[in-house]
Amino acid sequence: MFNVNLITLRIVFIYLLFGTLWIFFSDRLLTRLVSNHEEYIQLEMYKGWGFVFLTAFLLYYLVRKTINQQLSIENSLIESEERWKYALEGAGDGVWDWNLQTNEVFRSLRWNELYGFADREVGTSLEEGRKLIHAEDLPRAMEEIQTYLSGKTTTYVSEYRMLCKDGSWKWILSRGMLVSRTADGRPLRMIGTHTDISERKQSEAEAFRLAHYDHITKLPNRVLFIDRLEQAIKQSHRTGLPMTLMFLDLDRFKEVNDTLGHDIGDFLLKEVAKRLLSCVRETDTVARLGGDEFTITLTELNDLGGAELVAQEILRKLAHPFQLGDDIVYISASIGITFYPEDASNVDILFKNADQAMYAAKDQGRNCFHYFTPAMQEAAQTRMRMANDLRIALVADQFCLYYQPIVELATGSIHKSEALIRWQHPVHGLISPADFIPIAEDTGMIIDIGDWVFREAVGQVAQWRVTHHAAFQISVNTSPVQYSNRGNIHGKWVDHLQTLGLPGQSIALEITEGLLLEAGTAVINQLLEFRDAGMQVAIDDFGTGYSSLAYLRKFDIDYVKIDQSFIANLKHGSSDMVLCEAIIIMAHKLGLKVIAEGVETEEQRSLLATAGCDYGQGYLFSRPVPAAEFEQLL
Ligand code: C2E
Ligand code: MG
Ligand code: MG
Repeated sequence: MFNVNLITLRIVFIYLLFGTLWIFFSDRLLTRLVSNHEEYIQLEMYKGWGFVFLTAFLLYYLVRKTINQQLSIENSLIESEERWKYALEGAGDGVWDWNLQTNEVFRSLRWNELYGFADREVGTSLEEGRKLIHAEDLPRAMEEIQTYLSGKTTTYVSEYRMLCKDGSWKWILSRGMLVSRTADGRPLRMIGTHTDISERKQSEAEAFRLAHYDHITKLPNRVLFIDRLEQAIKQSHRTGLPMTLMFLDLDRFKEVNDTLGHDIGDFLLKEVAKRLLSCVRETDTVARLGGDEFTITLTELNDLGGAELVAQEILRKLAHPFQLGDDIVYISASIGITFYPEDASNVDILFKNADQAMYAAKDQGRNCFHYFTPAMQEAAQTRMRMANDLRIALVADQFCLYYQPIVELATGSIHKSEALIRWQHPVHGLISPADFIPIAEDTGMIIDIGDWVFREAVGQVAQWRVTHHAAFQISVNTSPVQYSNRGNIHGKWVDHLQTLGLPGQSIALEITEGLLLEAGTAVINQLLEFRDAGMQVAIDDFGTGYSSLAYLRKFDIDYVKIDQSFIANLKHGSSDMVLCEAIIIMAHKLGLKVIAEGVETEEQRSLLATAGCDYGQGYLFSRPVPAAEFEQLL
């Protein structure tokens, strides 16, 4: 390189020297050489051509030199690159060579072999190779290469899974470096390797599994559980939804171990783990801390009652006998429940709380759950007692229906009423549906209770259609649980009406806004069958949920019942008045009738009547009363 430059410099120097001499002395020389003016002009021309020729020769020489120089650099580069690639291939790595401007990738023979492909079987476009990256790893892999290309990191290394020809996955380590850029500085070419690291990944995973999972049940162990618990606390902090921690200890597990042996004991633990997992969602964590102790975290529960349902489900599922080989084993558990952030703000105290609550459950006689907070425990016990009493209420004939008139506001006539259930408890007296319906819903008893209400109301409407008004209609409250697959009420109810020769129109079903919001096919189909049978549908407590007018159209609703909270403070010009008027106008536009709930004063009645409300229901007309008293009203 130095030599070439020196020669070039010498030539340029000689050119400049001769050129200067020529410029200074050519005129004097010419005047001496020629005798007349014509000859002088001719020689002057040769002088010009001499210059052009000399300059052209110099330029030719320089260009040739540069090209030769370039070629020899490129040749030595290619040679060293080839050597480099061979060296890498020799080490067992596959080589890739990516042109970032054309997005074409050269992939070496070894690269293809790594994944079971023949040479050049994978096309040369970048996309072809990208398609082989595992979907879970792709975004990270792309981000890593971009970080390198943007200059944020000085090295490019990435680990991801690649699809082999036989459908299996290989973990690979991809390394590379930028080898050239375009004139304006954009990345042009990158060369790198793929190294198979599947074995290393496998042993890493194995080491992680041993350190974080219980080898008998394959559930997370204490280490991983604490990590998950910390995550759950952070999540709860973010979402503002409570997090539940449960401690679960199997009752008398030691007896199983001692009498049937440790193998059966281990087998039982595995089966218990499976049942526990079946009671929670995928996002919740079930772990085994050791021995017969399990822990559970439940996240994103909308209310604390959700935890109780899970605890009940666990106790119910564990109560089924375990078939372990030739042996049948019965086991139960004691569960302690605590909440974040209600009961504690850190992991240690939560652990202590749950442990304490679990011992309280043991003290209470095992096979039950116990809350850490006394007030919650008391409320849970009341609910449990009520649930037990509810179970016998139906057979013991403790329910009855009260009726409240629904008055046509324009005429004052009554040919509709709402059936409202009452529970005559042998010890606690009359219990309001607001207190026991939620428990009946949680335990699924609402399905039988709802069925009873429907049949009772149908019997009553058949009678009042004869004695009072041929088109008399009774509204029956229904709860969302009745529309789930568990409920499946439609066929039975339509049949029942038909057997009694009653038209569908004699019953209106009251549903909640929430039911429409979450309506799956089971709900939609049942509502459609009721409609086909001529039964009508009313939205109860309208305005308290989140349904929109679009839902009312979609589901073919007949009535909206404006919730009593809007009626309570009804005054001329009040915001509630504006809201009621708007609901009435829009409902009428959609072809629906409006019922105002909780009408207590003459003023409310007259405001609603003026606004065009179709029906009113409330203490102004009558409180809900037993059937016999209702007949007096009529
Ligand atoms: P709901 O369907 O909105 O029933 C209206 C409630 O408002 C009734 O309470 C009724 O007594 C009360 N009410 C009526 N007029 C007035 C008034 O002028 N002022 C005031 N302050 N209240 C009035 P009840 O009977 O205690 O029922 C409460 C809720 O229990 C019902 O609300 C309904 O959602 C549910 N429910 C009642 N019976 C059944 C049933 O058979 N099945 C189901 N699933 N739920 C029922
Ligand atoms: Mg109702
Ligand atoms: Mg209501």
